[in-house]
Amino acid sequence: MNIKELYQEIIIDHGTNPRNNFKIKNYNYNKTGFNPLCGDTIDLYLFIENNNIKDISFQGQGCSISIASVSIMTEIIKNKTIKEALNIFNIFNHIIKNKKYNKSEIDNLYKLKALGNVKKFPTRIKCATLAWHTLKIIIKK
Ligand code: ZN
Repeated sequence: MNIKELYQEIIIDHGTNPRNNFKIKNYNYNKTGFNPLCGDTIDLYLFIENNNIKDISFQGQGCSISIASVSIMTEIIKNKTIKEALNIFNIFNHIIKNKKYNKSEIDNLYKLKALGNVKKFPTRIKCATLAWHTLKIIIKK
């Protein structure tokens, strides 16, 4: 399997079998993200305590890229601090925009790269970044 196939496999896996796809009971932050270009709608639920993202889940409907993106994001962000989450958001932003970033900083980087692969399809970038921008609105507060 080459890297392109691996990336495709990750997106298909998370798009068809999304992780953390339910509403957690004890959330204290919630935000809906909407991408009018594609119609993707994603509700994020977070339980944040002492600047730690202790739990995160989502519900929503959208194209396979938007669902894969939010699924991968919940997996990577869970149990991270707000600061770490913002850092990961920045790295993802750099990948999407084809800018340089510090490779050693996070695990599961290949999953972010798989998502970042959509930069080849500019109309899908909003699908891939929707969940992340919605997250950022919550954790910037
Ligand atoms: Zn979409």
